[in-house]
Amino acid sequence: MENLWNEAEADKAITGLDLRAYSSRLIGRDPAMVLHGGGNTSYKGALADRFGNDRQVIWVKASGFDLGTMGIEGFTALDLPALLALAELETLSDGDMVAEVKRARLDPQAAAASIEAIVHALFPAAYVDHSHADGVLTISNSTNGTALLREIYGPRVMTLPYVKPGFDLARQMRAALLSPEFAEAEAIILEHHGVFTWGDTARESYDRMVAICARAEDWLSTRVPPLPATPDAATDPVDIARLRGAVSRIAGRAMISRPVPGVPASEIAEIARLSRHGTLTPEHVIHNKPFPAVIGDAPEKALEDFAAEYRAYVERGGDKDLIPLPPHPHWALLSDGAVRSFGPTLARARVSADVAAANLRALRLAARLGGWQGLDEADLRALEYWELEQA
Ligand SMILES: [Zn+2]
Repeated sequence: MENLWNEAEADKAITGLDLRAYSSRLIGRDPAMVLHGGGNTSYKGALADRFGNDRQVIWVKASGFDLGTMGIEGFTALDLPALLALAELETLSDGDMVAEVKRARLDPQAAAASIEAIVHALFPAAYVDHSHADGVLTISNSTNGTALLREIYGPRVMTLPYVKPGFDLARQMRAALLSPEFAEAEAIILEHHGVFTWGDTARESYDRMVAICARAEDWLSTRVPPLPATPDAATDPVDIARLRGAVSRIAGRAMISRPVPGVPASEIAEIARLSRHGTLTPEHVIHNKPFPAVIGDAPEKALEDFAAEYRAYVERGGDKDLIPLPPHPHWALLSDGAVRSFGPTLARARVSADVAAANLRALRLAARLGGWQGLDEADLRALEYWELEQA
């Protein structure tokens, strides 16, 4: 985990928002912090309106932009007092929250701001960074994750139990920021989800984020020996083509398959078992469903089993109105240690491959730490079939 801050590059920023975009790219460039559009950042400042009045504004990363490549165009300006007023409501449906945050845009044509906009607004700091750092989440999702996080970070890093992103998270964060612990805090870890840091300067918030993530990686490296390198499995390409065909039939459309770095065949059974206990961060369920397929000697049968298990997972939610997604896997573990992703486009298959690779590393580390306990399936299903994600 490297601190990528470059003073000469940062000096090119003219405004606070320029600097915001610069340090967002540093976070987005590091796949150990965020993957493919994950994570979000914000900046607070003032803007004079048409009548010459100063307005308190928060610029929040908009949906559809990638932290790693975005400039200031990727931020949507919102009325800060309006967001703070929303956080005072006792209840608000997520649909109404999205509508209210849209209403708070200074430019009605601007892209929708991140779902975590109100959470960002609550921090009494100009710069707020939010990542889904692999190392922190590997520890959080390990057996005894809560105790391990406390042991590693001490009292100056607050840890909050998982709640679904959206208005519930905004309310949880409001309470946390009003608590006495917050005055001494340097970061907040949302269990099973990610990390928030903040600062009066872009550098302060970024440095804190890097420090939190580096501490997790360092701790892991002292507890777990480096994962053994895995030679590529010599899977017959014809078998992979057949598997891709079979996945496409279940999906009802042609799927592209991409290779994911393989794992030792001897670890497949344990990885398959652990992968039934939640993804690294909830966002990953959107990309890759709650678990992979495990392919043995009878691929067609294994895919049928996956489809049956996926349908059962959806049905256990008990929501009769819900429209299930096609029951094909987004990634699969093969018994020889090969791993493949599947997606309807090359871009989607690549995202699934990268997310699978991050999950695999975390599962293998957690297996060596003594176990894995990610989000339970009710929380995963609530996110996968969330009204906002379904839309
Ligand atoms: Zn998040």
